[in-house]
Amino acid sequence: MAKRDYYEVLGVSKGASPEEIKKAYRKLAIKFHPDKNPDDHTAEDKFKEAAEAYEVLSDQQKRQRYDQFGHQGMNGGFGGGGGMNMEDIFSQFGDIFGGGGGGFESFFGGAGRQGGRRTRKGSNLRIKLKLNLEEIANGVEKKIKVKRYVACSTCGGNGAKNGTDMQTCGSCQGSGQVRKVVNTMLGQMVSTATCPTCNGEGRIVTKNCEACHGSGRELQEEVITINVPAGVMDGMQLSMSGKGNVPERGGVPGDLLIQIEEEEHPSLKRDGNNVIFDQYISFVDAALGADIEVPTIGGRVKITIKPGTQSGEIFRLRGKGVKDINGYGKGDQLIHINVWTPKTLSSEERATLERLRDSNNFAPHPGKSDKGFFEKVKDYFQ
Ligand SMILES: [Zn+2]
Ligand SMILES: [Zn+2]
Repeated sequence: MAKRDYYEVLGVSKGASPEEIKKAYRKLAIKFHPDKNPDDHTAEDKFKEAAEAYEVLSDQQKRQRYDQFGHQGMNGGFGGGGGMNMEDIFSQFGDIFGGGGGGFESFFGGAGRQGGRRTRKGSNLRIKLKLNLEEIANGVEKKIKVKRYVACSTCGGNGAKNGTDMQTCGSCQGSGQVRKVVNTMLGQMVSTATCPTCNGEGRIVTKNCEACHGSGRELQEEVITINVPAGVMDGMQLSMSGKGNVPERGGVPGDLLIQIEEEEHPSLKRDGNNVIFDQYISFVDAALGADIEVPTIGGRVKITIKPGTQSGEIFRLRGKGVKDINGYGKGDQLIHINVWTPKTLSSEERATLERLRDSNNFAPHPGKSDKGFFEKVKDYFQ
């Protein structure tokens, strides 16, 4: 997914002043705001894209780095785009729209004014995602069904009948906060507290929406596409911002947290980005050489056992491992050769071997190239 140039996203020139950048972003934020474009994913993406562009171009240092290095300079981390979650975006608004970092409703209509009210975030949804080694090695797109709370389609999420039967809270004048004067030894101190009348929401629903009984949300089953990057590990958590539950009576949805569970492969063992396979060969094959097939992530592969192969030798299949999660290439498959010694022998086999017992070639003669186990491991993992 190619990222668009940040200047292009905001529609400003490279030499734009901070004021121009702010103005351009403000326009886009209003146009693509999720409240104005419910269930419109294109608008949501544009909204996030603009927020990300603004986040960088409004910061003198980040802008300089971006001008010099482009997107590479911004170390996005894995997960690609979507570097900002909705909460980050809304917290940016205090700066753009004035007010003290208030909830977004303060700026886009709705009952509240004056900032002070915090944007509430819904709860996160947690799921477990089982993946096999093949899926992990190359990354995979998974579609899963989740049940999550979304804004009530009848009232739009505020819980009021028709979405309109509500009024500004009289106790806090819509700010969601009340000031308390406390007498202390040091004199009077003023503190602010969440308004008890409206629970900090700044408004009071006068008649509940009949569809959601005032909760402002409904349970919905949704199919979510998860792009799992290659190289994830068991226990790792991916998060998709905004795919969790919407809170009661409006706010920003929580995140979907996806915990990776790695299924054990029947014959391949994972070691970081490498894959390890234990191959047993007969000592006849070890002595005479043989072509054998081994399982790999991509299917079976033929390898040649050279005559005179020793137990403990390691074959390396380059690039047959797991893709690195940060994009640093691919691991290898390492094949450990184990020479199998027969445990039972027929009298005929015994006689054949007895004849070879004193043969000079069958006596061990380890040379310099026959490294011990530790040297071999060092060779492969340094
Ligand atoms: Zn409703
Ligand atoms: Zn209130």
